[in-house]
Amino acid sequence: MTCVHFLFISEENDLQRLHTLRLLWKRAPAKSSYLPGTGRFWHITDLHLDPTYHLTPDPTKVCFSSKGVPATNPGVFGDFLCDSPYRLIQSAFDHMATLTKPDDFIIWTGDSPPHVPAGELSTDLVVQVIENMTETIRQHFPNIAVYPALGNHDYWPQDQMPTSTNAVYRAAAELWRPWLQNEALLTLSQGGFYSQLVKPGLRVVSLNTILYYGPNKVTENMTDPAGQFEWLEKTLQKAARSLEKVYIIAHVPVGYLPWARRTTALREKHNERLVSIFRKHSDVIAGHFYGHTHRDSIMVLLDQQGKPVNSLFVSPAVTPIKSLLEPYSNNPALRMYLYDTEDFSMQDIWQYFLNLTEANERQSAAWRREYVLREAFGLADLKPLSLLKLGLSFMEQSTAFDSYFKHFMVGYDSSVTCGGACKISQVCAMLYLDQLAYSRCVEKGGRGGIHLRGNIIVELAS
Ligand SMILES: [Zn+2]
Ligand SMILES: [Zn+2]
Repeated sequence: MTCVHFLFISEENDLQRLHTLRLLWKRAPAKSSYLPGTGRFWHITDLHLDPTYHLTPDPTKVCFSSKGVPATNPGVFGDFLCDSPYRLIQSAFDHMATLTKPDDFIIWTGDSPPHVPAGELSTDLVVQVIENMTETIRQHFPNIAVYPALGNHDYWPQDQMPTSTNAVYRAAAELWRPWLQNEALLTLSQGGFYSQLVKPGLRVVSLNTILYYGPNKVTENMTDPAGQFEWLEKTLQKAARSLEKVYIIAHVPVGYLPWARRTTALREKHNERLVSIFRKHSDVIAGHFYGHTHRDSIMVLLDQQGKPVNSLFVSPAVTPIKSLLEPYSNNPALRMYLYDTEDFSMQDIWQYFLNLTEANERQSAAWRREYVLREAFGLADLKPLSLLKLGLSFMEQSTAFDSYFKHFMVGYDSSVTCGGACKISQVCAMLYLDQLAYSRCVEKGGRGGIHLRGNIIVELAS
């Protein structure tokens, strides 16, 4: 009797589990593994709202952000020479909202105001745009936690973020009060950075990397602007003691720009310091998430012995803006990350995009999935070793790299290709974040100092 009873219970549990699994599979995109034990969060970045965007017969007057250059193909959802019309941003959030579930959260890595000359903006206008975007996000996601980071455009004059409290940090702390706790609001209003527990075992550390950004004259000669390096180390040590894992979110990424040669996104000395802090505390960091470049790229942090220790992701922008002579741009983009709810490691990326030309032609925004990262590259996971192997494979064969480069621009223009020196810059920026290793990589034509034999790292003789 006991045995029968036991079987009955077990059967019922199995049926229930099967039912739950079926429901989950139904909601998941085809061919992606979305199973229990998986958490999810959105990443939106570089919204760059241009409130002046409007359709008019004079193409030079469509948007202030084109700086007098005639818009090429303006439509209701935008133009590749302009920042985002409000309608584009709304369509992005509308699409996200239909796919959002109560346990999801959002990271938002900054840059709300448009690319316009300083004279067109003011502290008040910058705060108004941040407020507008904050309210728009809250309207679409009233019950979802949002973790923002400040971008270089979220200040007036742009890039010049100070090391102590000011109108913008205080306004941000006030606007983001519904999402953040008091301790976070305090450091945010003082220095533009904060940390907060997302759920037991998972902490978000939102860095103000504008303090390390080259064009920021205020912090040029400082060794530790706003004491953020010291605060970061203490925060990471404390997280390790509390057995937490940390997601680093910030606007300007660490490391090198993938389309340039020998150019760090941050000023070089501050990049070196940040890399060394991340290396020292890599055990506690479960992922890095950045914006600012407007393009889609991956980086792997290697320790000093060349062992891959962290996975870093740079998300492409919602704004499609490019300057007239720039060969690259991006279709409007946003993404969702899947993570393991046990160790908080990254499981996958679902990248979404809007084909801007098509959306304007049809006057309707059909946001679609662009790719699923693991499926696109046949990866077992997004762990640092898997991403290192992917990066090393790019120099050997071009198919995987060509698809990586297509994603880099969110499918903007398939006639723009990247080989030779262009590819070397991309691969070296992906795998080497510090000056010494990066230089060695470009000198050796993309080979770097790292070689894999199976899963064993072999340092090449220099
Ligand atoms: Zn931006
Ligand atoms: Zn930026």
